Amino acid sequence: MASAFDFDLFVIGGGSGGVRAARMAAQRGARVALAETLGTDGLGGTCVNVGCIPKKLYSYAAHYAESFHESAGFGWEGTTPSLNWGTLKANRAKEIGRLNGVYSNLLSGSGVTVLNGFARIDGEHAITLATLNADGSPGHQQFTAKHILIATGGTPFVPHFKGREHAITSNEVFDLEPFPKRLLVVGGGYIACEFASIFNGLGSKVSQLYRGEQVLRGFDNEIRHFVAGEMIKSGVDLRLNADVVDIQKTGDGLKVECEGGNVIMVDAVLYATGRVPNVKGLGLDTVGVAQGGQNEVIVNERYQTNVPHIYAVGDVTNRVQLTPVALGEAMVVVDQLFGPATGKAARDMSYDFIPTAVFTHPNIGTVGFGEEKAREKFGDITVFRSEFKALRHTLSGSSERTLMKLIVDTTSDRVVGLHMVGPEAGEIVQGFAVAMKAGATKAVFDSTIGIHPTAAEEFVTMR
Ligand code: FAD
Ligand code: NDP
Repeated sequence: MASAFDFDLFVIGGGSGGVRAARMAAQRGARVALAETLGTDGLGGTCVNVGCIPKKLYSYAAHYAESFHESAGFGWEGTTPSLNWGTLKANRAKEIGRLNGVYSNLLSGSGVTVLNGFARIDGEHAITLATLNADGSPGHQQFTAKHILIATGGTPFVPHFKGREHAITSNEVFDLEPFPKRLLVVGGGYIACEFASIFNGLGSKVSQLYRGEQVLRGFDNEIRHFVAGEMIKSGVDLRLNADVVDIQKTGDGLKVECEGGNVIMVDAVLYATGRVPNVKGLGLDTVGVAQGGQNEVIVNERYQTNVPHIYAVGDVTNRVQLTPVALGEAMVVVDQLFGPATGKAARDMSYDFIPTAVFTHPNIGTVGFGEEKAREKFGDITVFRSEFKALRHTLSGSSERTLMKLIVDTTSDRVVGLHMVGPEAGEIVQGFAVAMKAGATKAVFDSTIGIHPTAAEEFVTMR
């Protein structure tokens, strides 16, 4: 029997969660539409366009500066190269364009109808898409769908202060023109710390202001202090318990007045003070979709809103704002609505032991409980730690140090926290996260043979 709806699933948002849900649902035989405000150029969402991918590319670029500098100790001679910011920006834009194309092909190849425009929900099964007519005038199209998935992500939050209009966010930082010789970063979370490290590595004089006692609230305390120390050593002027009062434009750049009267002169001010759910104009009030205090869409454990046929995944739900989490959530929705892949069980999403990396220089890699939270949760814990100079730095001349920590629940012997600050920490921690999900004990770690000589082997040799 023909369906009464135009589509089985209408996905709003072409980011990490939306693209995955649309593609997988179409592969299960569903008739799927995906609307993206930015059209095919926006496919991939925050992660691809202004998040994970361009950020990591710039982090690689910044690491070259360290490598050039350190190569002298290994016998390399010659003039140190300098950064061509225009080349980096152009090459990044080209790669992002290629990725947008890959996403577009994946969607069309799976049979998804990709719609270019801003979608608004008009009813439990109704969507209006704001588009442009051929002559450029505003137009709209209406669609019906059996299920609607909200995957509209988030957008940077900037608090109110005098001169706010002079601040930029992570959305603009990738294309700054000219290169900021002096940069102020405000915030102490993932984005602030990563960009402070990246621009410091690229050659900016970076100051970072954070309102609290120490950056990266929520991470293991020792890891926070250690990474902050390494960032300071590498040249970031990190000011804690500090905030901006006013920004004024002058002939010599931006004059930033801080609490306590300190003044910092910079070329750009990057605000990285969190992200808020993207729900403006989405029509949630019209259909009565329940929202929380940050305007996030409230969902149950199956990602269903209080309106039965409307679902939401990813940053718009303001839970764990990470791409792999949005992907995992999307798979749960698809399996639930259209059945799991042949021969597979329907997927579930677990928020325990989600590994994550902060791409500071050096990186943080972490999974499980920090020391303080583990003590609260398990009471009796044993902490193993190792701090050392990486082998490479015995010749490089760098004073960078590595810290690795294991937190063990003494009663069960289970490893419940694993943390690292050091080169490639994200790469190293991913594998250990599998062991920890599987419930590995310290005895299992101890019985594992190390790979020598690596930093990673420390995790199986700590006694
Ligand atoms: P998004 O990827 O934000 O996609 C939402 C899409 O919906 C957007 O394309 C938007 O244009 C579209 N949209 C919004 N409203 C509408 C509408 N009404 N109609 C049509 N389209 C609409 N995560 C990691 O795991 N690792 C990292 O290294 C990492 N680095 C990051 C660096 C930065 C600078 C930032 C900002 C984020 C980073 N993240 C990282 C987080 C990650 O990018 C997000 O968690 C992820 O993109 C969330 O995916 P999503 O599908 O929920 O939303
Ligand atoms: P975070 O939530 O990580 O950090 C926000 C920071 O801004 C905190 O230090 C917070 O301070 C501070 N802050 C909040 N409000 C104010 C204010 N009014 N005035 C001054 N400071 C303020 O958000 P980000 O924007 O850094 O990143 C958003 C999310 O994106 C991250 O949480 C993460 O999930 C994801 N992300 C992941 C990355 C990765 O996987 N490598 C990289 C980048 C982003 P306080 O702690 O005191 O509240």
